[in-house]
Amino acid sequence: MRILVTGGAGFIPSHLCEVLLADGHEVVAVDNFITGHHRNLATLLPNPRFAFVEADVTKALPVSGRFDRVYHMASPASPIDYVQLPFETLYCGSDATRIALDRCRQDGARFFLASTSEVYGDPLVHPQPETYWGNVNSIGPRSVYDEAKRFAEAVTMAYHRYHGVQTRIVRIFNTYGPRMRENDGRVMPAFISQALRRQPLTVFGDGLQTRSFCFVDDNVRGLIGLMESGLSEPCNIGNPHEMTMLQLAEYINEYTGNTAGIVHKPLPTDDPTQRKPIIDRARANFGWEPQVSFAEGIERTVAYFRGIVAV
Ligand code: UDP
Repeated sequence: MRILVTGGAGFIPSHLCEVLLADGHEVVAVDNFITGHHRNLATLLPNPRFAFVEADVTKALPVSGRFDRVYHMASPASPIDYVQLPFETLYCGSDATRIALDRCRQDGARFFLASTSEVYGDPLVHPQPETYWGNVNSIGPRSVYDEAKRFAEAVTMAYHRYHGVQTRIVRIFNTYGPRMRENDGRVMPAFISQALRRQPLTVFGDGLQTRSFCFVDDNVRGLIGLMESGLSEPCNIGNPHEMTMLQLAEYINEYTGNTAGIVHKPLPTDDPTQRKPIIDRARANFGWEPQVSFAEGIERTVAYFRGIVAV
């Protein structure tokens, strides 16, 4: 198939491109590098079935030819990015989603939206099934991401219902692995790079808030499984292995032999207190579940950061 991936120089999308190419497809990636990185394209560019276009997908999709599949992955995706790039974040969810959906309508392509567990906000239902409507602050600092993704889901369902476009919506929970940006502010790159530098790990708040971390290889298998399934309802992709940020900090310090301990920093506004996916829908519809253990995922992620963190 001929497949378009927006945000192709980003963390998850660059891994997605790699697997799609390995599966024999032709892949065109688009990115403007506001949060993506050239180095994420290194393994992709030599492949003759891969093409890269530098462009801002919130303005237009300057790519020619017909596509069979469009993965709309482009968006800033970490809390400090939302604060620095509020309008870019809003328009990735709104304008870029509409532009990509129009292209799918025109091409007869299947559309895939990278949505997020953030649509559940600070969830009052735990763990989270797809049927939960969420608890989102529509005006807080995270709202530019949360509400943009909620709009993106709505416009995707509207194109499906009213224009007959084939659509898929994934709600991605916390994902980690090689190619995360060292300074993107997310907890995994923060803790791992601090540990490698023998600094105390910065635990926000009391550290009792929970997250559930999925290794990127598992995530990408889930995205492709959903795209090729018959499911047009939203679908969680995440690893139900839940832990507190204190437990994560302890694990990383122990694994890396860092004896500098932790320091507590203020909890960001609207930081969700708990998050854990129910993945029955993915399991039932396309037989997906995570396979990479936390120990293996951390080992592979730390190995990557050892190569890029200046200590
Ligand atoms: N966090 C932390 N220290 C850091 C960065 C993040 O304790 O240096 C916490 C953050 O407050 C949140 C969790 O780790 O509770 C996950 O944060 P992240 O930004 O990775 O993703 P989120 O799930 O909040 O979007």
